[in-house]
Amino acid sequence: MTVKHAGLRLIDEKGLRHDGRRPDELRPVAMRVGVLSNADGSALFEIGKTKVLAAVYGPREPPQRHTMLPDRAVLRVRYHMAPFSTMDRKSPAPSRREIELSKVIREALEPVVIAELYPRTAIDVFVEVLQADGGTRTAGVTAASLALADAGIPMKGLVAGVAVGKVDGVIVLDVDELEDSAGEADLPIAAAPDIGLITLFQLNGVLSRQELEEAVEMGLSAIRRLVDMEKETLRSSVTVMPGE
Ligand code: ADP
Repeated sequence: MTVKHAGLRLIDEKGLRHDGRRPDELRPVAMRVGVLSNADGSALFEIGKTKVLAAVYGPREPPQRHTMLPDRAVLRVRYHMAPFSTMDRKSPAPSRREIELSKVIREALEPVVIAELYPRTAIDVFVEVLQADGGTRTAGVTAASLALADAGIPMKGLVAGVAVGKVDGVIVLDVDELEDSAGEADLPIAAAPDIGLITLFQLNGVLSRQELEEAVEMGLSAIRRLVDMEKETLRSSVTVMPGE
């Protein structure tokens, strides 16, 4: 525990977390697709106070033609935190963290996008964090998966992500910023459950083998629920023209 949070109890005597959640409970989740008319696909994903917007453009011919590949589309991802997304105004200049997270999110999506269908094109994914309260990389993956599907990009399966953590010795689902900064471990995971693939797996902190197994099981079960919700969101976003 950091000095900043010394003495803070993250699990109370009833076994509940600082915001009243049980250890295996997600924050309230909301998903919407087609939120931007200028993008080919878009999505807004909210999990608690974390709010992330994703916009997809393409497949299209990239302005820098030398970046094209002869046999498949290039997937390009930019993760960015809006300057107003955090309590302390964040510098708008791309940070090392944003460059790293752009790569992490791209690698979480690449295994499912059927890029061979669109040679010599680029698919651009913009992940914009509107409000940050922990778990923005995994929220970014979930929002991007929805936006890619909304853009009609063929995928082997939908992807979702969640961060599992350890606070006061307890494994907890969907850590927020306080739990992330004051807790003992943070394990962001993303997966495409329909094809049995984990596409993002990071661990910050130390977990025993048993805790790791519990954390992964908890994360994957939540990811299955999030992917089901993505499917429902994509189904219900279909509008039927009157008279058809
Ligand atoms: P993730 O958002 O995927 O959990 P981190 O573990 O790096 O990634 O960040 C944890 C949380 O810390 C973020 O969700 C955000 O709430 C906060 N945070 C990260 N970077 C900044 C920043 N530059 N300024 C303020 N808060 C930040």
